[in-house]
Amino acid sequence: MSEIIIIGAGVIGCSIARELSRYDAKVTVIEKADDVACGTTKANSGVVHGGFDAKPGTLKAKFNVAGNAMFDKLSKELDFPFRRNGAFVLCFDDTKWDGLKRLYDQGVENGVKGLKVVTGDEVRKKEPYVSQEVKGALWCPSSGIVSPYEMTIAYAENAAANCVKFIFEKTVSSIREDGERLAVVCEDGDVLKADVVVNCAGLHSDELNNSLCEKKYKIVPRKGEYMLLDKTSGYLASTTLFQLPTAMGKGILVVPSVHGNILLGPTAVDIEDKDCKDTTYDGLAEAFAKASITMPSLTKKTVITQFTGLRAHADAGDFVIGFADGKPLYNLIGIESPGLTAAPAIAVHASKEIAARLGLRERAEFNPVRMGIPCFATMTEREREEIIKKNPLYGRIVCRCEVVTEGEIVDSINRPLGAKDLDGVKRRTRAGMGRCQSGFCSERVMEIIARERGIDMTEVTKSGKGSEILVGRVE
Ligand SMILES: Cc1cc2nc3c(=O)[nH]c(=O)nc-3n(C[C@H](O)[C@H](O)[C@H](O)COP(=O)(O)OP(=O)(O)OC[C@H]3O[C@@H](n4cnc5c(N)ncnc54)[C@H](O)[C@@H]3O)c2cc1C
Repeated sequence: MSEIIIIGAGVIGCSIARELSRYDAKVTVIEKADDVACGTTKANSGVVHGGFDAKPGTLKAKFNVAGNAMFDKLSKELDFPFRRNGAFVLCFDDTKWDGLKRLYDQGVENGVKGLKVVTGDEVRKKEPYVSQEVKGALWCPSSGIVSPYEMTIAYAENAAANCVKFIFEKTVSSIREDGERLAVVCEDGDVLKADVVVNCAGLHSDELNNSLCEKKYKIVPRKGEYMLLDKTSGYLASTTLFQLPTAMGKGILVVPSVHGNILLGPTAVDIEDKDCKDTTYDGLAEAFAKASITMPSLTKKTVITQFTGLRAHADAGDFVIGFADGKPLYNLIGIESPGLTAAPAIAVHASKEIAARLGLRERAEFNPVRMGIPCFATMTEREREEIIKKNPLYGRIVCRCEVVTEGEIVDSINRPLGAKDLDGVKRRTRAGMGRCQSGFCSERVMEIIARERGIDMTEVTKSGKGSEILVGRVE
């Protein structure tokens, strides 16, 4: 049986793993973190872009529009939160109408349906908190919002259920030729062989390609800083609010999350450090100031956290997708925005190309359906009573801000590819995502992780090795 190694368990690696699990191949995913969705995939705007922003004829345009169209079916099949909330691109200046018109024409050329230029009053009718300075906007009804890590977890769980193997905490240092096959050299000294290697290493995908291929790439991390507002601010916007894009990207957004928060950001600054996760005073001040142009009534009082995401910006300018130099290395390089939107379509395309090269056949046993963890917070009273009867742990609230029960936390740990640490539980259940940012529930969640995983409290981490929370016991 053909062997395929996927390097990287972000949304690209996990979606390709799931699509490849339709075929009769042995698929292994190698990830350096201790969980899926720990790279760029966990820190972005979560927008399922309509497809008007990408230059016509590019892979970004093609896969954006195709990916967007797949979300309704996919979110039901894999049970992850997605909402088609629509987006406005706001114009504040009568001299900038050309910019809106250009986006409209681009969108039409890319095949985006339902685009319309509307007046400022029409925007405010739908979004009353938008600035009085807005003169008009482009309306895109097909734009949506998704939880990027929940989508990726869903893809990964479905891949695992269809026999894909995941290896965590293993870093690939290089790829070299091994006859007709490739050898994946890991930092711990292991060398794993495969018929095809799929390079989904995000910010590090250039280094892995460059270790094998003559054609070199360079990824520049483009930093984006965000502020997240409490759900009490959720009334401020129901649609995604863009400003006109700049050469550095789509600009600062005010965007609702699928769980009812409001996100402000991201900034766009090219940096050198691919591991940089810090936020800065200047970056956050810029995000807030520019978001306030869209919505002057914003207040910092409801900010509950801030974070940074790094775009994998490639010098190629477009997504790089395909076999490299005729070698059995399948590259996915420079998958910056709209990579999350494009992922479903990229995954189908990549898996078909890989299957064709290896002559793979589809497996009749492939099961496309995955069920998520029951969500107590959104259940009716009757549903709550029923689930508590079946499992009393669903009657014990652990995270009061997000109304997450012990039952959900236990389920998140014990399911395939289950959570190992606090952040893993948080991304799967939302325990710790609320107003207090885990100030009240983290100790209780740690106790549950220790109990369910049979480890000592001092071994429980926030997000993998080196992030232990307790330093020892006081006797
Ligand atoms: C600020 C910002 C906003 C964005 N907003 C949007 C948006 O609204 N909509 C949209 O469609 N897209 C958006 N994007 C883009 C989107 O987030 C990315 O395209 C997508 O997450 C890329 O996924 P990935 O799997 O390629 O990368 P990643 O999620 O980074 O995954 C790569 C994985 O590879 C692992 N890895 C790296 N090197 C190695 C190695 N040597 N060995 C083993 N494992 C390794 C990493 O740990 C990581 O888990 C945004 C991006 C940013 C930064």
